[in-house]
Amino acid sequence: MEVTKLVCIGCPKGCNLTVEHSGKEIDKISDYGCKIGLEYAKNEFTEPKRIITTTVKIKSGDLPFVPVKTKDPVKKEKIYAVMKEISELEIESPVRVGDVVVANIAGTGVDLVCTRNIKKVS
Ligand code: SF4
Repeated sequence: MEVTKLVCIGCPKGCNLTVEHSGKEIDKISDYGCKIGLEYAKNEFTEPKRIITTTVKIKSGDLPFVPVKTKDPVKKEKIYAVMKEISELEIESPVRVGDVVVANIAGTGVDLVCTRNIKKVS
């Protein structure tokens, strides 16, 4: 039996979660303060995912970059591929919150969306 410690990011309390496991098989999860921590530990141990937030270059906008995020979390191992694809993007203004910048970015099955309105200028 092995033990892995994780810090829950579900709220500021930051419970120190304990996952007892045999290789990749979870035997027991303890030290969580609520169900969010239990789910977090399960997901983080078996298939860690993250929401990616960053910016994309935009042409003729009232700002030179538009903030974007993945609509859902993506697998941690795909983060580099997603960031590489984002770094090569330059989109056209105007855009609105929720507009899809790239569907199924880097083959993750997750869309990249705008999180701010950008007007077209000149
Ligand atoms: S387990 Fe619950 S109480 Fe503890 S940090 Fe996570 S969300 Fe907060």
